Amino acid sequence: MAYQHRFIGGQDVPSKLGKIICVGRNYADHAKELNNPIPDEPLLFIKPATSAVAMESPFSIPKGFGSVHFETEMAILMGERLSKAQDEEARLAIAGVGLGLDLTLRDVQNDLKAKGQPWEKAKAFDGAAPLSAFVKPDNIADLQNVQIRLMVNNEIRQDGNSEYMLNQVVPLLSYISQYFTLEPGDVVLTGTPAGVGPIMSGDKLRVELGDVLSIETSVQAD
Ligand code: ZN
Repeated sequence: MAYQHRFIGGQDVPSKLGKIICVGRNYADHAKELNNPIPDEPLLFIKPATSAVAMESPFSIPKGFGSVHFETEMAILMGERLSKAQDEEARLAIAGVGLGLDLTLRDVQNDLKAKGQPWEKAKAFDGAAPLSAFVKPDNIADLQNVQIRLMVNNEIRQDGNSEYMLNQVVPLLSYISQYFTLEPGDVVLTGTPAGVGPIMSGDKLRVELGDVLSIETSVQAD
């Protein structure tokens, strides 16, 4: 079944997912843990709509491509078209805030990086973007002060705060819109804090966004 956006409480999102724009290395502690330099401009890549699945249902991960890493990220749902926008327009275009897992074939990515090739095979595969239901932005007092947490089998693996983003959400949206038109229904994944690591089939996950979202899910067992 094709992925469909939802708001918490069951309310439908009128627009369909078009694309997911992701920012790499948006937290210094995460860039460091993978021995990557901190970019002086946002590092952007795109996952297609076919990569999205509902986070709340058990999801499957690819087999036979090496390690699959979790990256827990704040997800921004766009409600307005945004092209070459200024910050104020970008702020008003946010329709929802949720959680995304930027699943990454880390071995494949390392290989592509070493060859100087694009990352799509490592980042854009089917199922590469489990997305939660969204809350309306007015449920969040300050987008730049939200705890982002992942527990795997009851162990805390990621526990970061959006205050440490190198590119804050609103300027990130306006920056993205200088290159790609954002459409209603598009999602922006805002980067992962430190702690990324592999997930295995059967793992039980709890993914949290501050005190507004707490999702229990799992990786489908073989
Ligand atoms: Zn990521």
